[in-house]
Amino acid sequence: MTIRRIAVEEAFVTPEIMAEWQKVLASPDAEPGFAKMGESILAQTPANKPLDDRLLDIGADRIAHMDAIGIDMQVLSLTSPGVQVFDTALATRLAAESNDALAAAVKAHPTRFAGLCAIAPQDPVAAAREIERAPKLGLCGIIVNSHTRGEYLDAPKYRPILEAAQALDLPIYLHPREPAASWVAPYLDYALWFAGWGFAAETGLHAMRLIMSGTFDRFPDLRIVIGHMGEGLPFWLQRIDNRYRLEVKIGACGRLERLPSEYFLDNFVITTSGVTSMPALRLSLDEVGVERILFAADFPYEDDAEAVRFMDGANVTEEERKKIYETNACRVFKL
Ligand code: MN
Repeated sequence: MTIRRIAVEEAFVTPEIMAEWQKVLASPDAEPGFAKMGESILAQTPANKPLDDRLLDIGADRIAHMDAIGIDMQVLSLTSPGVQVFDTALATRLAAESNDALAAAVKAHPTRFAGLCAIAPQDPVAAAREIERAPKLGLCGIIVNSHTRGEYLDAPKYRPILEAAQALDLPIYLHPREPAASWVAPYLDYALWFAGWGFAAETGLHAMRLIMSGTFDRFPDLRIVIGHMGEGLPFWLQRIDNRYRLEVKIGACGRLERLPSEYFLDNFVITTSGVTSMPALRLSLDEVGVERILFAADFPYEDDAEAVRFMDGANVTEEERKKIYETNACRVFKL
C-alpha cells in the first residue's frame, strides 16, 4: 500500500510578524503569558536562531528537510500567537499579508504545501472577509491561535467568523497559545504556561467553551480541528457527559440539543501533533475513531523525524495508518 505522509500542523511565520512581536514584547502591556514566550522561545538569541530560520522558510530548505525525513506534504499555518497580540488595524493587515505569502508558497509547490488562512479576530467582520478570500488564495482552512486578548470564539461578537467558516465549509484549526491573562497567574511558574501543560489547558478550555455554549446548535456544520491528540479531551469525554447531566439538573448550565461528547465526535477532528505515545493514540482510536485522527508533526517545534518513526511503527493496521497519514487529511482539508 502506498501512503503519502501529510502533516497538518506545521508552522511558519513572516519576518514582519516576527518583528512586530518584538515591539509588543518590549511594551509594558504585553500579556503575561506572551511575555513569558518573549523571555524564552521568542527571545532573539543565538540558541533560538535555527528555530527562527526554519519558521521563516517556506521554500526550498523546508522541502529538502521534508524529503530527508519522508514528509510528502505540510499543511502550513501562521505560528502562535500569530497576529492575535496586535492592535486591530495592524493585525488585519498582517494576517492578509501572511496569507498572500503563504498562497504564493502553495502555488509554487502545490504538491508539497497546503495552507490555512490566518485571521485577525480583533475585527470579526474583516476576519470574515479574509475567510472569504481563502478559497481564492488556494487555502484550505482557517488558523486561530486560541484566545484573542482573553476572548474566545463562543463570544457573540465572533459570529461573523463562524458564519463564514461554516458557509465556506472551511475547518478552523484551533491551535494552542499560553493561557489568557484572566487566569494565567498560577501557570506563570515552572513553565506551566508553555506547551507541556498550559497550551492544552488553554486550547481544551476553548474547545469546551464552544461545546458548552451551544455554538454547534447554532452552527451544526462548523468543523474544528485540535492538535496534541485532542488536547486531553478524548480522555475526559465520558466524565464530561456524566457531569453535564448533573449540571443541567442542578441548574448550573443550560441544556444543549445533544450531549457534549456528541459534538466532539461530530464537529471535531484531532491530530497527533507533538504526541508519540501508543497508549494515547490507542485511547483516541477507541474514543473518537480512526476517521477523526490526522497526522501532524508540529514542525519545527517538535522532532518530526520522531513523529514519522512513531506513526510508521504504530500498532495499527495499514488501512488505519493510511487514514491517519493521508486519507483523513484529504477529506478534512479537501486536498
Ligand atoms: Mn503547533
